[in-house]
Amino acid sequence: MIRREKAPTLCCTYCDRKFRKERAVFDSYRSSVRFCSNACADASRRKLAEIECNWCNERFRPDAKRRKYCSADCSKRGVIRDMRAALPERHCCRCRAVFRPKNSQAMYCSRACSRVIYSATYYQKKKAAQPSNVIYLTAEIFDGWFKRAA
Ligand SMILES: [Zn+2]
Ligand SMILES: [Zn+2]
Ligand SMILES: [Zn+2]
Repeated sequence: MIRREKAPTLCCTYCDRKFRKERAVFDSYRSSVRFCSNACADASRRKLAEIECNWCNERFRPDAKRRKYCSADCSKRGVIRDMRAALPERHCCRCRAVFRPKNSQAMYCSRACSRVIYSATYYQKKKAAQPSNVIYLTAEIFDGWFKRAA
């Protein structure tokens, strides 16, 4: 008689019970961690103490030890902040102030500085493109229109 090969068994991370591999409950944040049931997965999560979110400081119960943020949103913001913190400080291309760039391409210390530069180049280009005989709207022209309309 040929004995059927036994289904491979795993050991539940929480209750240490052996269970069949195909029934394993995976932890969404720890793919290597397996439980025999949803109840064990939940219980394991509950075991972790409340911590403060690394971004919003709200207290929450992490479902994995390495979790630092209460939500995906907070995690995204936190990761971006850490990334920025890792960038070296540089001088603003306009006011020369030292600032911490938001990304590796940042050239200006603030929105105000980048706006001044961009609008200056924008108007220069616009001026250059304009024909010289263009009529600018002035108060006199407006008055004329109103007089004609009246
Ligand atoms: Zn279990
Ligand atoms: Zn948070
Ligand atoms: Zn600046």
